[in-house]
Amino acid sequence: MPYEREAYIARLAVQKASLSTRSISNQILANKAQNTITKDDKSPVTIGDFSAQAIIINAIKANFPNDEVVGEEDSNDLKENPELSKAILDNLQKNELEFNEHYKIPENVSLGDSFQAIEQVSQVIDEGNSQGGDKGRFWALDPIDGTKGFLRGDQYAVCLALIEDGIVKVGVIGCPNLPNSFDKSEFQYKGGLFTGILGGGSWYSKLYDSKIIINELGDQIQMKNNLKSTSEIKVCEGVEKSHSSHDEQFKIKDYLGIPIDQTLNLDSQVKYCSLSKGLAELYLRLPISSTYREKIWDHAAGNILITESGGIVTDIKGETLNFGKGRTLQSSGVIAGSKQYHSKVIEAIKSLGL
Ligand code: AMP
Ligand code: MG
Repeated sequence: MPYEREAYIARLAVQKASLSTRSISNQILANKAQNTITKDDKSPVTIGDFSAQAIIINAIKANFPNDEVVGEEDSNDLKENPELSKAILDNLQKNELEFNEHYKIPENVSLGDSFQAIEQVSQVIDEGNSQGGDKGRFWALDPIDGTKGFLRGDQYAVCLALIEDGIVKVGVIGCPNLPNSFDKSEFQYKGGLFTGILGGGSWYSKLYDSKIIINELGDQIQMKNNLKSTSEIKVCEGVEKSHSSHDEQFKIKDYLGIPIDQTLNLDSQVKYCSLSKGLAELYLRLPISSTYREKIWDHAAGNILITESGGIVTDIKGETLNFGKGRTLQSSGVIAGSKQYHSKVIEAIKSLGL
């Protein structure tokens, strides 16, 4: 398998960070139930975000010290906030204990030194300051993608991708709240771990699987490419109306004859994961504004999951996404779908003048 070591470390790091987000999420939901948190209280999600970024960069740097990281967060907010800093350090130390209690990793594998001081945490977080580009090797990291979903107790994802010379080589996504099936009668458990490897396929396993991390890739997954007509297409869209144009997405579905009740609204890159696993066939992300530039960490890992499971990802004009242009994409919107219908969707967008 190409990039075996990178994928292995990325999976362990994402599992460890996902564990940390899960325990914060439980606290948030408990506080909500007791009404001790307001809608605007961002601190729990901030602790989750910073902790996950620290855990993952720590693991990358311990194993690939020369690799750069394009991470969403920087430590500026911590500098003026000792209370927040302390909460993050406490959370990281708790995570270390919890991870070691639940999982056993081989003795020759290290995910980095444990965190002893907040300065060390800030320094690790700030290693996520790479500017990316089309030369060399870096990782794109979204420690908690879909913070709105995270706060609601809905879908969110921990997303990590390896990019080399502008091309995504590995993508790993942890989805702590993703059920094995959206069909309630088939529901068994929550928590999925997705891995896409260039030339190596897309894979799915349980996120919280066993006490000993054997860390196998799991089952190979494929997008559905054999629908009878567009009326069978299931669509994924975001929840937040400020992140994509639900009106324009509606027009496309109407034009293609896709029934409205076949839309799944999901936060984060869980949308890409759902497609790659065959739970839906089309992801529409029509831009709200012509000036917004999508962040590479919001799409890199999801991109390879789709292409390695037999699908296509482009912008709204049908051009493939370019991850070598810096911290953002230079294109507009995202259309991910099965090979069977992707070109029809791009034609629909042209015909509708969107
Ligand atoms: P989603 O969960 O699909 O709504 O996507 C979440 C991501 O949308 C966040 O990680 C943000 O980086 C990103 N985002 C924020 N503002 C916008 C915007 N105006 N258009 C598109 N994406 C955005
Ligand atoms: Mg994000």
